[in-house]
Amino acid sequence: MADTGKAAVLKSKHVVVVGAGMGGLVTALLLAHSGVRVTLVESAATPGGKIRQINAGGALVDSGPTVFTMRWVFEQIFAQVGCSFADVVKLEPLDILCRHAWGSSHQRLDLFSDVARSADAIAQFSSPPEAKRFLAFCQKAKDTYQLLEGPYMCASRPTFAGMGADLGVRGLAALVSLGPFASLWQSLGHYFHDPRLRQLFGRYATYCGASPWAAPATLMLIAHVELDGVWSVTGGMHALAKAVAQQAERQGATLRYASPCDRILVRDGRACGVVLAGGEHLEADAVVFNGDVSALAQGLLGEGVQRAAKNTPLAKRSLSAVTWSVNAPTSGFPLVRHNVFFDDHYKREFDDIFRQHKLPSRGTVYVCAQDRTDAPLASTGHERLLCLVNAPATGDQPSGHYLTPSEIESCQQQSLKLLGQCGLKLDLTSPAAQSVLTTPSDFNQLFPGTGGALYGPASHGWMTPFQRPASASKMPGLFLAGGSVHPGPGVPMAALSGQLAAASVMAHLTSARPLGRVRISGGTSTPSATTASMP
Ligand SMILES: Cc1cc2nc3c(=O)[nH]c(=O)nc-3n(C[C@H](O)[C@H](O)[C@H](O)COP(=O)(O)OP(=O)(O)OC[C@H]3O[C@@H](n4cnc5c(N)ncnc54)[C@H](O)[C@@H]3O)c2cc1C
Repeated sequence: MADTGKAAVLKSKHVVVVGAGMGGLVTALLLAHSGVRVTLVESAATPGGKIRQINAGGALVDSGPTVFTMRWVFEQIFAQVGCSFADVVKLEPLDILCRHAWGSSHQRLDLFSDVARSADAIAQFSSPPEAKRFLAFCQKAKDTYQLLEGPYMCASRPTFAGMGADLGVRGLAALVSLGPFASLWQSLGHYFHDPRLRQLFGRYATYCGASPWAAPATLMLIAHVELDGVWSVTGGMHALAKAVAQQAERQGATLRYASPCDRILVRDGRACGVVLAGGEHLEADAVVFNGDVSALAQGLLGEGVQRAAKNTPLAKRSLSAVTWSVNAPTSGFPLVRHNVFFDDHYKREFDDIFRQHKLPSRGTVYVCAQDRTDAPLASTGHERLLCLVNAPATGDQPSGHYLTPSEIESCQQQSLKLLGQCGLKLDLTSPAAQSVLTTPSDFNQLFPGTGGALYGPASHGWMTPFQRPASASKMPGLFLAGGSVHPGPGVPMAALSGQLAAASVMAHLTSARPLGRVRISGGTSTPSATTASMP
């Protein structure tokens, strides 16, 4: 099709995006930039979805994602629409990636953006041979990341066989050398003899909402992502969501907040529009759903699209969380921006959550001190914290699995006790403290169909990476973007899913043929700068 003809065709097309999470926002941005008429409808009053802020006593606390990585994904997306990411979103690199503390030993370990500094810290904390093994681990995590970025993350429909073909003999040999059928925990045992380090690096599985004992070894690539750079976003992570939303509007997309979608319309077996909660009909040539795919399977978007996706049963859901968005004075522990407080009973934490579906009796506590970077806080008054404990995704379950107020209260007590053992004084019951609680049932209400699971299906078992739905659903005209679909959860991954969804929609709108595989360009190791549609 000639360029002018194609532009005219695209201008006549209307796409409705349901959901202003990162996946939906990126899809809307890229489609609008391509000349398509885009309407995005969102239940909440602001963009971002899980990237949300909570007002705790007048202070806005980032209460969703806090760790910003894979900056290249956003640089590339903004470049695609002719805009410089650095001009609109201000980032500050963190020297200390994370401070780790153990309640039982009173010891601390910092990981740094400088790998050599981390190795020195590990040599002192543990032993020089452990530091050497850490360096070998970093190399393996990097190799794994580079191997999988193009053929897996940036490909729309990765299959085991297809990926094998993309990787070639040498790539497959490298993957096999990783022991891809082993769990992350098993694999970490080859590198770390100190159980605290195995625990620390095993925690990366939780970035995908998984247990280190069930996650595939390939998830060690998350360690590389973090060791490759963590930034704090000026204005909080919410500023990132707002920046993408503003760009989408600038490119011509219409963003409608406080506009829940009640139903996705289906005609002749194709998705053809939506009905909003108020009854308004929006006709469309394609619909992109950015909520959790379980919502489709549970019929929350109407019977017509129920078969387009699979439900994730409780046993296969990823982690939920109990969070406290806090504005309070702290003392006693030198918080940096990201802090993790470990208990000794790490395996029990995941058994409690994934086997018993209950809150961990003694769980790890993550604290994001949002007014801090690496330096000590200038003033010693109130500061904003997000405190998070992993939890089962039972927010939609009947009593028995449902978390009771007393269970949540004892989880809070246990968490504060662990922080106290590590030296951090934080009294949430003092009149000076403001704290807002979010439970799995709250997350379930915010993100329907999930039970509070924050990362879609859990990445458990080596086949799970190939089982997430692709951007093109089983139903013609219905596309998917977000953390519950390929390539998976996390802010940059959801953004990649938005890129893949936009590419799939474009292929759908401009071609009479059935959809082929689409592939977007990668960042650090995939050279192409264009979106390709493959037969
Ligand atoms: C507490 C927490 C901590 C996290 N930490 C990190 C981190 O540090 N780093 C990181 O990278 N990731 C982190 N994540 C994960 C990350 O936030 C998500 O993977 C990512 O933001 C999900 O984006 P998404 O595109 O799936 O959309 P979501 O954020 O899931 O948003 C979906 C949107 O769709 C809307 N919607 C759903 N149904 C409808 C409907 N019927 N009508 C209208 N609108 C609808 C919802 O209201 C919502 O706004 C964290 C998540 C949480 C909750």
